[in-house]
Amino acid sequence: TTLVSMSVSGLTDLWADFMRASGSAERVFDLLDRKPGMPISGGERIDPLQGHVEFQSVRFAYPTRLDAPVLKDLNLAIQPGEVVAIVGPSGAGKSTIAGLLARMYDPQGGSLLLDGRDLRTVDPEWLRQQIGVVAQEPMLFSGSIFDNIRYGRLDATEAEVEAAARAANAHDFVCRFPDGYRTSVGERGVQLSGGQKQRVAIARAILKDPRLLVLDEATSALDAESEHLVKDALERLMRGRTTLIIAHRLSTVLGADRVLVLEGGQVVQSGSHASLMEQEGLYRRLVERQFAAA
Ligand code: ATP
Repeated sequence: TTLVSMSVSGLTDLWADFMRASGSAERVFDLLDRKPGMPISGGERIDPLQGHVEFQSVRFAYPTRLDAPVLKDLNLAIQPGEVVAIVGPSGAGKSTIAGLLARMYDPQGGSLLLDGRDLRTVDPEWLRQQIGVVAQEPMLFSGSIFDNIRYGRLDATEAEVEAAARAANAHDFVCRFPDGYRTSVGERGVQLSGGQKQRVAIARAILKDPRLLVLDEATSALDAESEHLVKDALERLMRGRTTLIIAHRLSTVLGADRVLVLEGGQVVQSGSHASLMEQEGLYRRLVERQFAAA
């Protein structure tokens, strides 16, 4: 599944952003926050946040399918600023890991720690501000490109929005529209290509400047030009942030500090691409099969 489809029942900041923009956020928040054990706000704010993430013996099943555990005794630690790529067969639990980090759900067993603090003790509102999400198919709300980027930080100035768009390789295509940043997108506006939407989402994340990033890499092919521009923009965005990428491309795993291979809800292999290629195992088989292109 993608983060977007998951977020319909859960809560990514992307979905929250989208709903808030369309005016119905409060109702959604109300609904979600009625889940026992999930406070609306309150709790700890970690300042300064380093961005150390740890999953300790995490067990998780979706509330609708409690008989089918998705993560079983999952352990993983990510250092501040580290870029970790998660790979694994479909259904292995990759998106679920990202969803738990964004606290769309709480695990039934074990715990998630952020800088050593249990995620359940952390202020959820604050947590959403610390995590940037770039989804596989970013949803933009109806409005201008400017507003869609500025959503990353509502008090940003025009100059800051433009600087973020430049860093995201979006400025040039935006300027090619007659209305520039005032161009409307969405139902009544222009249709952006997949790669353009991704760059708007990246600009938004750059403006937000979060310590933690969750990237769900596009599986659909972008044209070569857009592909290169998105990759370049993502590299700029990831620099110095703790990053979890659900990776679908060989070039991404090559650029990651570490690759985690997930199977049946557990980490079965972990290491650099080179070290994993030297081992007999799932990773080598995945690379030969799944990453044939790119
Ligand atoms: P893919 O590469 O296909 O996106 P994935 O590794 O990201 O897969 P997940 O999306 O984390 O895998 O799904 C893990 C398991 O949880 C799957 O069996 C899936 O059917 C199930 N699942 C995912 N989302 C939900 C949900 N909202 N409710 C119930 N079950 C779900």
